[in-house]
Amino acid sequence: MPGFEIFGEEEKKEVLDVLETGVLFRYGFDNARNGHWKTKSFEKELCYITGAGFSHLCSSGTAALCVAMVSCGIGAGDEVIVPPFTFVATLESVLNIGAIPVFAEIDDTLCLDPEKLEDFITEKTKAVLPVHMCGSMAKIDRIKEVCDKNNIVLIEDACQSIGGTFHGTALGRFGKAGCYSFDAVKTVTCGEGGGIITDEKKIYDNIHMYADHGHDHIGNDRGLENHPFLGMNYRISELNAAVGLAQLRKLPEMIKIQKRNKKMFKDALKEIYEVSFRNIPDEDGDTATFLSIFLHDEKRARDIAGKLAKAGVTGCPYWYDNKWHYIKKWDHLINLSALAKLPIHKYENHPDYRNIKLPQSDNIMKRTISMQIMLNWTESEIEERIDKIIGVFK
Ligand SMILES: *Cc1c(COP(=O)(O)O)cnc(C)c1O
Repeated sequence: MPGFEIFGEEEKKEVLDVLETGVLFRYGFDNARNGHWKTKSFEKELCYITGAGFSHLCSSGTAALCVAMVSCGIGAGDEVIVPPFTFVATLESVLNIGAIPVFAEIDDTLCLDPEKLEDFITEKTKAVLPVHMCGSMAKIDRIKEVCDKNNIVLIEDACQSIGGTFHGTALGRFGKAGCYSFDAVKTVTCGEGGGIITDEKKIYDNIHMYADHGHDHIGNDRGLENHPFLGMNYRISELNAAVGLAQLRKLPEMIKIQKRNKKMFKDALKEIYEVSFRNIPDEDGDTATFLSIFLHDEKRARDIAGKLAKAGVTGCPYWYDNKWHYIKKWDHLINLSALAKLPIHKYENHPDYRNIKLPQSDNIMKRTISMQIMLNWTESEIEERIDKIIGVFK
């Protein structure tokens, strides 16, 4: 999955363009930058790849989520429905904007279950934030229907799924805004960075202004810009954007390689009676960063995960025990530990995170093992890996 595997001359060239001018910033210095607008170019290409009307880069995927939510009017005291299987950044961003994460069940897509969503909607629910986990998609058409029916904002966390589509539409384009991450381990990396797409001009204006202290970006003199509202600094550096620009251009090729590699593993594992596969609502739109399998029960899944590790088959997370990706091990969330008082500490009747019951999600996650698909594996390395994996099931 990671873009760091293919860092090369293209990335260096883009960065050198920036270093030659010394204009390391996305805004201003028009004359000194010698025609280099790496952030703007990246945004243009992100629109092209996703088909979105507008896009904006910012400093991280976490920042992207915060900016997207605030720009859609989500704020203090609002409830935002999130999945219990995600990277913690999803719910940190909800807490950071003063809103309240409400956890709903996932289904066999490893993403939010649209059929259970309404059980978690209250009069305070303002948004649903599905996460397209591990390179593949939620049943996003059904989730959108539930959101529309209940008049709730849909914002997609597509941080792990850039380049993914559902029936031809880019993941990230189903709701009011979609977010991507370009951190160290994502398919496209900027080192650090994030991106937001939207089709609504009004929301786009909120996004670029909020992420830059509320500057309206009108005219050519930064000093004369107005501030219609308070914002924050979530700007990306031109250097990071330069790396990402070269990476983004490699995305189609990366996905092609991942799909080919993933298929080899999947074909081999199809032969094993006790293995079933994650439900992928549109296989064509999978970015193939992971192959996720289900075993019959927790005991067998733990057994297989242990044996894979022992056999030296690296990169096979058993998420149920993972500290970063499943609610069970998020002690900081469960205890709402923070350095200083958060808005949620002041709200009565927020969910008791020590006591979240999600039996359907637990049942799925207990039986799930994922296998990361790398870009640089040779065919013989893949064959060797497959042999080891098959051996584990014997
Ligand atoms: C990586 C990730 C984020 C956060 O992105 P950063 O760029 O690391 O801040 C958010 N959500 C998900 C699902 C992620 O995987």
